[in-house]
Amino acid sequence: MKYVGAHVSASGGVENAPENAHKIGAKAFALFTKNQKQWFSKPFTAENIEKFKANCEKYGYSPDHILPHDSYLINLGNPVPENLEKSRKAFLDEMQRCEQLGLKMLNFHPGSHLKKITEDQCLQLIAESINMILDKTQGVTAVIENTAGQGSNVGYKFEHLAAIIEMVEDKSRVGVCLDTCHTYTAGYDIKTDAGYRTTFEEFERIVGFQYLRGLHLNDSKKELASRVDRHDSIGKGLLGIEPFRRIMNDPRFDNMPLILETPDTNLWAEEIRLLYELQE
Ligand SMILES: [Zn+2]
Ligand SMILES: [Zn+2]
Repeated sequence: MKYVGAHVSASGGVENAPENAHKIGAKAFALFTKNQKQWFSKPFTAENIEKFKANCEKYGYSPDHILPHDSYLINLGNPVPENLEKSRKAFLDEMQRCEQLGLKMLNFHPGSHLKKITEDQCLQLIAESINMILDKTQGVTAVIENTAGQGSNVGYKFEHLAAIIEMVEDKSRVGVCLDTCHTYTAGYDIKTDAGYRTTFEEFERIVGFQYLRGLHLNDSKKELASRVDRHDSIGKGLLGIEPFRRIMNDPRFDNMPLILETPDTNLWAEEIRLLYELQE
């Protein structure tokens, strides 16, 4: 069974997200549990937490299909010690917010070396950050998202994801999320039938599907291997509809959140419907 949804708004309170997801016909959703442009937000009230849980139940969303996303400010591989410390504190806070909401996963972009350290050193810092934070939390899996490799971001090669996982002590609480746009612009040609096959064979060999916790479904405005991260609406970008048809008919993506982060929020309901129609 496929669980398609979108990264919905939680404005006015985290408890509003499940209803926003329900309104567009989503079977899964992503959300920010705090203002993503700020380092820290005020803690949840007991009411926020109760209402969030009640609304998830009301609209039929299980924590298995909810994939919160962390703030874009956080860089768990930051080479500058005081900034790394700030990121770790903020990430711990976000993991704890997920814990409070009874959620099981937190999706994050691995980090950036800012041209001050090597990629390998950056991957090491990220793994160290994950270890520290897993130590202080329970029940929430750190879900590393692959990147387009824009700027000095690491995580654009499956080898990067594997290297981080390799260094994480508690492998039961680390996972990955693949973004279709990032995968393509990082250089994996999922647009063609053969490219799709070899990309996921490679993913299985290097990372392993046992670590896959979700997908971000986005078309791409930029070319293969451009290393630029620009999402487009499903079927309207350079990927086109075929890769999404393959995904919707591929049992390796059953039972996990498949999340739209496409730019036109007015199209989400239609995009979700379209994706389900691709199922044969
Ligand atoms: Zn994404
Ligand atoms: Zn992106």
